[in-house]
Order: sequence, then structure tokens, then C-alpha cells
Amino acid sequence: MFRVRFAPSPTGELHIGGARTALYNYLFARKNKGKFIIRIEDTDQERFVPGSLDRILQGLKWLGLEWDEGPDIKGEFGPYIQSERLELYQKYAHELVDKGSAYYCFCELSRLEILRELQQSQKQPTKYDRECLKLTPDNVKERLARGEKFVIRLKVPEGKTIFTDKVRGEVCVDNSNLDDQVLLKSDGFPTYHLANVVDDHLMQITHVIRGEEWLPSTPKHLLLYEAFGWQPPEFAHLPNVLNDKRAKLSKRKDGEAVWVQTYERDGFLPEALTNFLALLGWHPQDDREIFSLEELVKEFDLDRVQKGGAIFSMQKLRWFNAEYIKKLTLVKLDNLLKPFYKALAQTTGQKIGTTRALTQILQSRLIILKDINEFTHWYFVSDFKLTADILIPKAGNLAKTKSALQLAYELLIDYGDKKWEVEELRNAFEVLVRPGTFTRGELLWPVRVALTGERQSPDVFEVAFVLGREECLKRLLDAQKVLA
Ligand code: GLU
Repeated sequence: MFRVRFAPSPTGELHIGGARTALYNYLFARKNKGKFIIRIEDTDQERFVPGSLDRILQGLKWLGLEWDEGPDIKGEFGPYIQSERLELYQKYAHELVDKGSAYYCFCELSRLEILRELQQSQKQPTKYDRECLKLTPDNVKERLARGEKFVIRLKVPEGKTIFTDKVRGEVCVDNSNLDDQVLLKSDGFPTYHLANVVDDHLMQITHVIRGEEWLPSTPKHLLLYEAFGWQPPEFAHLPNVLNDKRAKLSKRKDGEAVWVQTYERDGFLPEALTNFLALLGWHPQDDREIFSLEELVKEFDLDRVQKGGAIFSMQKLRWFNAEYIKKLTLVKLDNLLKPFYKALAQTTGQKIGTTRALTQILQSRLIILKDINEFTHWYFVSDFKLTADILIPKAGNLAKTKSALQLAYELLIDYGDKKWEVEELRNAFEVLVRPGTFTRGELLWPVRVALTGERQSPDVFEVAFVLGREECLKRLLDAQKVLA
């Protein structure tokens, strides 16, 4: 059975690149009826950010990427948080020392720094010089007995490391380019490399699908598998996510939104984001673009993951989002908009009743849910600052405008039992537009401005429909007072 994992470090929110990695792992697992595992890599205590574990998990849940084993689900390979597995790594590090594949190093930081500076000044690669490999076993014992601080380093063997990456093809590295990597730090914590390999092995991971930035670490990992005598998993390194300047999408730079939670807050839909992320480095067999998560599961294949960087286009993501908003049922969209409506209502101290009608006219206009802030000023204001200046159309005059507002008012007073619907309202008003009486602009401009207080707004009949008869009458009356 295929087993894959997403292994975030709790150093912040869920990054958009991380979400793409998680998604590909999820799709691969579901497609192959395998298992999708979440493992938390928190051995770098300095970078740990409290609260981030929960936020990362919440982000994954919001995207709909359910996992089979993880920190919150008991599984037979747990615990799934590395800081709860420290003894294991210590045991395995010492095992490598016993096997002669790793060694104790007692060098002080100050020595390592001098060494690095020297190598840099001589334009040599910066590597540990194996000073401690010269120690005799008795030396080592003595120093350990004295309680000296130590790290455990991998003894990189001579030769070449070659492997076939499922995305990048054959990768070959001369081991002489690899440093004797620290495996266990002096505080007893493992480094990423050791913990990652030990866990992938113990958790029986069959495919490691991760970002391209980990490609240089893979030869080191393979040397570890070899030293332990373990069968390595398959590797697939996903292309970098690039911004429109072809630079790697990094952490918050130039206002780039890189956190999944930012998208959630602004009103992107998870379905739109997963659809968009799936196509960020992978393409389907045909030129379809809209895919539900289930459809992606069916289509996904590592063979169609590209090598070159994938460009993150905000415009494209927004297009997806608008498409998904259009597909929602009215009830669903209205529910999703509720928190946004509430926030707006709070700013005006207004009570919100039913918003269904408002949602209905907004559905085709929204790109992200947050856009309602711009489209609904006229709904969430209690007092307009109407002036004669904006009520009177450019080509109109005061008298005409006054009578237009009066006429509209009367029309609504006598509306009778006609249906309160956009088209019905349109028909009722259109009758008043006649040559010699009112042009469309002369009649409808002041009515629309009276109802919205704005030069630009949705169609006057849509607005009237949403506001309801009573509110329309009130606003028309107020507008007439402004002109009185
Ligand atoms: N903890 C690493 C990260 O934060 C995981 C890399 C891997 O998947 O091996 O991305």
C-alpha cells in the first residue's frame, strides 16, 4: 500500500507552497487508495511558533485535505510529532556510530566558525574537516565520560549517490561535495535529516513528495538509508512556486499573500484554491480547467508534474474563485457571506435581516467574498450624504429631477399587489419613460442615486428589489427633501 506524508514544520501559518505539496500528497494517496499522513517536524526549537500547529491543521481541513494518520488521529505509527519521538532518534544515531557510519564530534562552535571563514576566504566549499574522526575510541570514551558536549555526524562515504526522482529524472551527486552532516545536536535533538529519514522509514512511507528546495538534501538522506540498511522510498520533488517576476514565492514580500489563512479571510473558496493549486505544476490530459477535488483524485498523476517553476497568477486564482462563486447555491453563498455582512452591519450599527436578495444580485459580480465591502455601501448605510449635485443628472435640471422622484414615489405607493421582483419593477418604471416626458436618464438616474447615495452602483431595479418597498419609499422621500 502506498503511504505518503505531508511534514510541515510549525513555524508559521500554512504556506501556499506547502498547501500545494499537501494537496499533491493527498491526491496521490487517494488516487492510489493509499494513506495520507501528517507528521509535524518540530525539532528546530528555535523556529517554533506557538499556535502554528493548530493553524496549519486548520488550513488543511479548510482545504478539505483530510488525513488518515496525524497528530490528532491515533495511528499505529505514532506519535506523529517529532518532539515526542526524541529517544528514537537518539537510539538510531548511536546505532550508526556503532556501525561506523557516524561519529562523535566535540568541536566547539568557535572552531567551526574559524574553519568556515578560512574555507570561504580560500573559496573552498564549507565543510567539516573531520578533525574528530582522528580521535581514538579511547579518546572518545574519555571525553564522553567527562560529560563533554558532542554532536553526532554522518561519515559520508566516498563515491557517488545516484537516484531517479519521479519528477526530475536521474540525479547524480559526487559524495565529495557532501558535508559530514550533523545528525544529532548537542542538546539531544535530531537534525531535520536524521528525524526525517528515521520517521519516513518507521512510518513506512513509500513516496516522498515534497518541494524542490529539499532536492539537495536527498543524497544525504539516501546515504542515511544506506547506512541503516533500509530500503529508501521513491522521491518526487515538486517545482518551485514562482511569483510573476519569476522569483520564488517567499514569505510575505511586497504584499504577496502567501498564507492560506489570508485567502480564507478574504473570501476565496477552498474549492477554488485547491483547483488552482492542483494546476500549479501539474496538468491534466486534456485542456479542462475546472476540477473538483474528487475529479482531481481521478486525474492526478505524478507523471504530469512539470520540472520547471510554476507561476502563481493571482488573476487566474481570482478567475477560478469567481467561477466557483457562480456555481454555489444561493443558500450556500448567503451563508458564506453572513460573517462579511455581519462585519459590515456592525460598522453601521445596522441590524441585518434577510440578505438573500442582496446575495442574489451580488452572485454574478463577486470575485472574492470580501468584494461585498465595495458593492454594498448603499445597503449598509443608514444616512446618506445626498446632495442636489449628484441627484440631478448631467443633462437634467432641478424641476425634472424633482418630478422624477415624485413620480417614482407615487409609483411605489400605488404598486399594489404586483410582484416585488427585478423584472416586474423594471416594467413598471419603463412605462414612465416616454418621449416628451422623461428620458431614461432623467428618470432613473435620480431614483438610483436616491436609493444608493452613489454615482455608481448596481442596476436601480436590483437595488430597489433588495431594499424592499418601504425602504425605497423612505429614501425617495429623503431625496425629495434634499431638493426642496
Ligand atoms: N519539515 C520539512 C518542511 O517543513 C519537510 C520536508 C520534507 O517533506 O521532507 O518542509
